[in-house]
Amino acid sequence: MAGLYIHIPFCKQACHYCDFHFSTNLQLMAVMMDSIIEELKLRKEYLKGEAVDTIYFGGGTPSLVPAEYLEKILDQISALFPGRKQEVTLEANPDDLNSQALATWKSLGIDRLSLGIQSFQDQILKAYNRAHNSKEATQAIQLARAAGFEKFSIDLIYGYPHSDHRLWQLDLEEALCLDPGHLSAYSLTIEPKTTFGNWTKKGKFCPAEDEFVAQQFEYLQERCDKAGYIQYEISNFSRPNQAAVHNSNYWKRSPYLGIGPSAHSFDGSSRGFNPSSNTSYTKALSAGSLPFVVEKLTPEECINEEILTGLRTRWGLDTGSLAERYHLDLLEIKKGSITKLTELGMIHTEAKTLTLTRKGQLLADSIASDIFIDSDDLS
Ligand code: SF4
Repeated sequence: MAGLYIHIPFCKQACHYCDFHFSTNLQLMAVMMDSIIEELKLRKEYLKGEAVDTIYFGGGTPSLVPAEYLEKILDQISALFPGRKQEVTLEANPDDLNSQALATWKSLGIDRLSLGIQSFQDQILKAYNRAHNSKEATQAIQLARAAGFEKFSIDLIYGYPHSDHRLWQLDLEEALCLDPGHLSAYSLTIEPKTTFGNWTKKGKFCPAEDEFVAQQFEYLQERCDKAGYIQYEISNFSRPNQAAVHNSNYWKRSPYLGIGPSAHSFDGSSRGFNPSSNTSYTKALSAGSLPFVVEKLTPEECINEEILTGLRTRWGLDTGSLAERYHLDLLEIKKGSITKLTELGMIHTEAKTLTLTRKGQLLADSIASDIFIDSDDLS
């Protein structure tokens, strides 16, 4: 089974923390939608006949796309990749939600919403330069539910520096009160090419201390656990059977086709990406050519990617499967690091599967790099 990702590169305004690819110039909307349809046609063989069972509209802001374009794209997908879809997700911002839009999305077969709430506190939403306020955030969930969306996710951000733990606790309480089936929570990361990044460079913004962010993450883990949510990936929590199928398949390394500027694809053995430029993307497609760039991965890069993503998940890193596919006994090769990390209470090994403990999740990236392999390990 494979996934299909459509990147919608438009937003109303730039959030101060965001380094995803988007433009606030919506004039290219119509041309962009035609280009996306063109790319779908040109790349229909990428998945080598694998059935597509999840579709994910991400961005950018997919909820900005007029319904007639969404319909055209979905019709094209049905023609190229027929068959029932298990999950069709649309990322939506609260300020774009109204009863009519929701009814239309539902009629088009969209059955899951990923709602970019980020915070329920007006002062934080303002600091992030979000286009919605806290009232619209709450209303969005009520509207989605009233429109019959049984599957939706609330996205939150923690670790805003000029605040205290109380505001994060309030955010989490408000989210949990709304009883979503799914919750994603990411720490605020300061990326260089963002407003916050620029302010940090100029000394006008001071990112939060690691300890402050770690305390909020620990609170998240404990509170979601108490509320009955399963942490199936470091940043993702769900009610039983409400985990995002599309995203879970990424982490299980199923193939996916990414369409639109900046979208990445993976065919099971190699990956690649489109340019992060709306103009270059649409120009190439108008001329009938594909702007897709293939990224060649060495076997050790593939294995290290599996280590990184596997460790982030609840199901963990299956070293038995690595041994079968790559003739690599990771438990033996990295015995020293794994023993040390186990003694430190960072990882847990059961039936050849490595998982991070709660404590280990705080240091996921550095733990993964401790057990990364290099080419000598494969010879
Ligand atoms: S966070 Fe979302 S809405 Fe804000 S700029 Fe980034 S993609 Fe657009």
